[in-house]
Order: sequence, then C-alpha cells, then structure tokens
Amino acid sequence: MKKRTLRVVLFLSAAAAVICLYTLIMDKTGHGLPCIFRKVTGFRCPGCGNTHALHCLARLEFAQALRWNALMPLEAVFAAWLITATSLRYIKTGKYILTTGSEKVNIAFLAVILLWWIVRNIIGI
Ligand SMILES: [Zn+2]
Repeated sequence: MKKRTLRVVLFLSAAAAVICLYTLIMDKTGHGLPCIFRKVTGFRCPGCGNTHALHCLARLEFAQALRWNALMPLEAVFAAWLITATSLRYIKTGKYILTTGSEKVNIAFLAVILLWWIVRNIIGI
C-alpha cells in the first residue's frame, strides 16, 4: 500500500509540474495548444477555452476564466472527484479503474457535457 501511495503522489506531482510548466510557457508566449476538434470541424468542443480559463485562474481572474469556458468550474470539480476516487481506489485495492464510483454522477456529468457542447455551438459561447 505504501508503494501504491508513493506512485500516486509521484504521478500527481508530475502532472502538477507539467501543468505549471505549460502555464508558464503560455504566460510567456501568449499561446496555448490549439483544439484539434475545433481546427478540424470549426465547432467548439466542451473543453474549448479550458487552458485559457486555467491560465486566468492562476492570475485570479475569475470572471475572465468563466468567459473562456463557463462550464470549467463544474468540469474541474468532476475531474477532482474522478482523480481522488481513482487514486484512493488504486491505493486501497491496487486496481486502476477511472471512474467516480457513482454511475449516476458519471451519466449526469456526461449529459451536462453533451448539452453544453450543443448549446455553446448554437449560441456561440
Ligand atoms: Zn476544443
């Protein structure tokens, strides 16, 4: 169990370091990674604007962050729940299963994402 806990800590630390590095590069260059879905289709995906929104959050610009992607706070809560549940399950059982542990939550979040995807492309946000 100690070995699995160490793996989770190392993985999450590496992920946090990559996010910090990406934010720093984005801050210095003013450019982020383009969305492949948007480049190919011309439509926004549910995550479009999230990197810009995270960049704004790092600067404590909350209103601007919501302008980039209004659903980003909900996506962040879901991601945090998913990461926490998956990490704790892995530490406890050694099984890596990417889920919140609640099918109702997974399905509800998927429904909200699909609705957001459609609405943001219809009204152009
Ligand atoms: Zn996108």
